Amino acid sequence: MRGIARISFRGGSLLVTARTPYDREVLLEHVDQYSSRHGTIELELDRQRWRVTLASAEAQACTECHHQLDNLTYWFGDNRLCGRCARRGPLRAGDRDWARSFWKQAG
Ligand SMILES: [Zn+2]
Repeated sequence: MRGIARISFRGGSLLVTARTPYDREVLLEHVDQYSSRHGTIELELDRQRWRVTLASAEAQACTECHHQLDNLTYWFGDNRLCGRCARRGPLRAGDRDWARSFWKQAG
């Protein structure tokens, strides 16, 4: 399943290729679209599992940049990321060790 992402939502799922930076940009557009439509989706990519939710009314901050989260929250374990940080970091990288290196950088 390497290079293939699965977006799961209530009532179905979608497989999307995620090999190139362009693929990942398209994938993230699908993620935005399906999260907006279904409220919560799960994203499996490179054997990592993300949950993407619509932001709650209560203001919360991104774990990485500490800015207030915009309309979508990207959950990775207990960490919540804004769309910008998710794109800049782990979701963009194509290599197996992205999570480790990303979170080490995030300190
Ligand atoms: Zn952020």
